[in-house]
Amino acid sequence: MKAALAIDFGGTKTIVGIVREDGQLLAQRRFATDTSQGALPYFQACLNELGECMRESHVPPEQIAGIGVTVPGLADPVRGMLLHAPFLGLKEVPVAATIRSLWPDYPVFVDNDVNACALAEMKFGGALACGSFVWVTVSTGIGGAVVIDGKVWEGEHHLAGELGHIVVEWDDDANVCGCGNCGCLEVHGSGKAIERNVRRYLAGSGRDSELAAYFARTNAPVTAESAAAAAMAGIEAAAYIFRQAGRHIGKMLSYTVNMLNPAAVFIGGGVSRSFSLLQPGIMDTFSVAVIGEANKSVPILPTGLGYEAGLLGAASLAFTK
Ligand SMILES: [Zn+2]
Repeated sequence: MKAALAIDFGGTKTIVGIVREDGQLLAQRRFATDTSQGALPYFQACLNELGECMRESHVPPEQIAGIGVTVPGLADPVRGMLLHAPFLGLKEVPVAATIRSLWPDYPVFVDNDVNACALAEMKFGGALACGSFVWVTVSTGIGGAVVIDGKVWEGEHHLAGELGHIVVEWDDDANVCGCGNCGCLEVHGSGKAIERNVRRYLAGSGRDSELAAYFARTNAPVTAESAAAAAMAGIEAAAYIFRQAGRHIGKMLSYTVNMLNPAAVFIGGGVSRSFSLLQPGIMDTFSVAVIGEANKSVPILPTGLGYEAGLLGAASLAFTK
């Protein structure tokens, strides 16, 4: 059975590994992403770790289908380039050419992490039977990918599927987004937005609330993850903040589903582990804003990929291209 070498190049951490064509992870290594010395030493470090993975898993070189690399930003899969990763301050990095210069044995495939997760959902997850579907990553920010007839729709300039930058709040007090616009989903429905709303509540009307007492008692840092734990422990204010975030996600999904009539929507990313907290809000807005029975019954599901979504995504680039 074929296997792929996978590099999940993240903003803060990198995971490399070997994934078999049936989705089984044979070996993996994780380390902090350090691109401060440039792309060449960074990718050299990735390949050194992959070499270790190959020795450990005893996969013969002739079974390797290729090297799949997911990058944390805008990518050009045709040229194998990372075009722009604002978080890392990187622009125009020739990822495929750099890896080929170091290790010319295998073809190299590059795409952004969100598109790759959508491919992985199709190859290994819940989208096996879906010709067309929508993938949404809800984590610190919000990303998206649109799959039409089995292919990620890239758009004319690789900008398709920017679901985090669909405007969902048009009021004057809408939050300003990193993209420069106001009211984007990313600043109303992401993990960062949830964290900001918890902080606002604790500094205002929630100063003496049950939620404030929860944070004082547990000594947990204020994050979307700890707020989810508070909500799961039955603290209504925390559940309400998740429900509000879900309502904004539901607005975006209603526009997207009315436009595309997909087979399903899959939600991944760190915040999707709290899917049960987002779901009531998603349905509040989604169910009243989509038309037609076929769209109303589009399933909105948490990803079937689990924790290794990024690595499976990188591997699926090598299997599907
Ligand atoms: Zn934006």
